Amino acid sequence: MAIIASNFKTNHTRKSTNEFIQTVNNYLVENKISSEVYVFPTSTSLDTFQTVSNFFVGAQNAYATKNGSFTGEIGTEQLDEFNIKTILIGHSERRHILGETQEEIAKKFNFYKELGYKIIYCIGEPLEVKQQGLEKTLEYIYEQFIGIDTNYENLILAYEPVWAIGTGVTATNEDIINVHGAIKEKISKPLLYGGSVKVNNVREICSLNGVDGALIGTASWIKEDFIQILKNTK
Ligand code: PGA
Repeated sequence: MAIIASNFKTNHTRKSTNEFIQTVNNYLVENKISSEVYVFPTSTSLDTFQTVSNFFVGAQNAYATKNGSFTGEIGTEQLDEFNIKTILIGHSERRHILGETQEEIAKKFNFYKELGYKIIYCIGEPLEVKQQGLEKTLEYIYEQFIGIDTNYENLILAYEPVWAIGTGVTATNEDIINVHGAIKEKISKPLLYGGSVKVNNVREICSLNGVDGALIGTASWIKEDFIQILKNTK
């Protein structure tokens, strides 16, 4: 059974989010989809998911706090209002664009772990590390597990090479199999692949050894495409 997750990033309005979820939810209700489906909308649309029951809705980000003085952030007081119990942590855009350090990420991880949240935890190397070979790539990835309890029961991992995210360049099957195989030897948790997963490659990627599903950005934002992705992986 594949795990399929859609990361909206900073896309969609409340109106289009609503249309997306109603369409996808209807599809899931009408068809026997055995995939475990996650959607991560923007914070301003989290409440639009109150009415759906056939998939999990998560926060793309939140601060390690219940509430307080953290301008621009949201905490669990806000997430609780919408019954959100799933969160994405360690995404490469938060690490590399928003500047989150491993220390901050680990703090966030532990905070949400203590509260029992389902955590999708992302790891992945930049291009200059990939170019140094598999050994260096794995060294880099293992450092992204510092401070992270990899035995946490509500943990799903996502391997997302930075150079493949939003670039249209998907990792090769060999790259995916090598990295997933190495991670799986150390950590026995579901492991998704992410990075330019598309309608026409999702089935093959999800069937590779060590791949339990996909975390998808760009190709999941159009509802018809997301449904096709679900069809291709059911
Ligand atoms: P992408 O993004 O599918 O657009 O490459 C993946 C992600 O960032 O999770």
